[in-house]
Amino acid sequence: MNFKGKKALVTGSGGGIGKSIALLLADMGADIAINDVSIKNAQKTAKEIISKGRKALVSNADVVKNNDVKEMFKTIAAEFGRLDILVNNAGITRDSLLMEMEENQWDQVMDVNLKGVFLCCKYAAKMMSEQQSGKIINISSASAQIGNIGQANYVASKGGVISLTKTLAKELARYNINVNAVAPGYIRTPMTESVPEKVKNYIISQIPLNRAGKPEEVANAVAFLASDMSVYITGQILSINGGMYV
Ligand code: NAP
Repeated sequence: MNFKGKKALVTGSGGGIGKSIALLLADMGADIAINDVSIKNAQKTAKEIISKGRKALVSNADVVKNNDVKEMFKTIAAEFGRLDILVNNAGITRDSLLMEMEENQWDQVMDVNLKGVFLCCKYAAKMMSEQQSGKIINISSASAQIGNIGQANYVASKGGVISLTKTLAKELARYNINVNAVAPGYIRTPMTESVPEKVKNYIISQIPLNRAGKPEEVANAVAFLASDMSVYITGQILSINGGMYV
């Protein structure tokens, strides 16, 4: 896989899975627009990309805010002139049992995890349709496929990402834009760090490969879907879950 000359945007790439994706695409030759609400973390990722000899843009756009996203895409158009790959990775959890879940916990998670994907897809599609090419990869979750106690908001948002992916794959195929999603299982990142040890051990006991996944293992699958090796794949959900859901 070779991404020389390709321009990519990875949302939420200041850390965790997004950072691994950005670094891998850069290793393979792409220039990357790094987005994260934490400008400091975004700058750290950008520094590593520049040290690999690639170009990096930094944006602290909040993917929930239409104007922020619009400005981020304007900058990408001005600085990169095109966008070949969009990875919608930014995501949050606000876990709670349904009966205790506050309205704002529901709204925040739906906003970042689903509305954020909609907004970035919308602006990316405008650029990619003019180019008559593009790859969009959305990060869903195994929890959307199997359900998870305490995550009604998160699971609904990630299920929405799966449905959105399938629809956009059909809608954007005429512009030669592939839209796919990955559904990671349990991956060791800052997002899952706060899970109590007892719960972590239980989750791992349910995984046939008997371990948590690594962010780099998700990045490998994303790179495949961003590459020319997957040109005839669209509207698919690729599981990276150690067999947790088959
Ligand atoms: P993470 O380490 O928390 O990374 C998420 C990143 O998104 C953070 O850097 C975060 O910034 C950023 N972000 C949050 N809200 C944002 C917004 N409104 N606009 C722009 N950036 C925003 O989590 P991760 O585990 O790497 O997760 C990455 C993606 O994989 C998420 O979509 C997640 O749902 C999905 N996923 C993760 C797992 C897992 O086991 N870890 C499993 C399945 C799916 P701050 O930290 O500064 O807020």
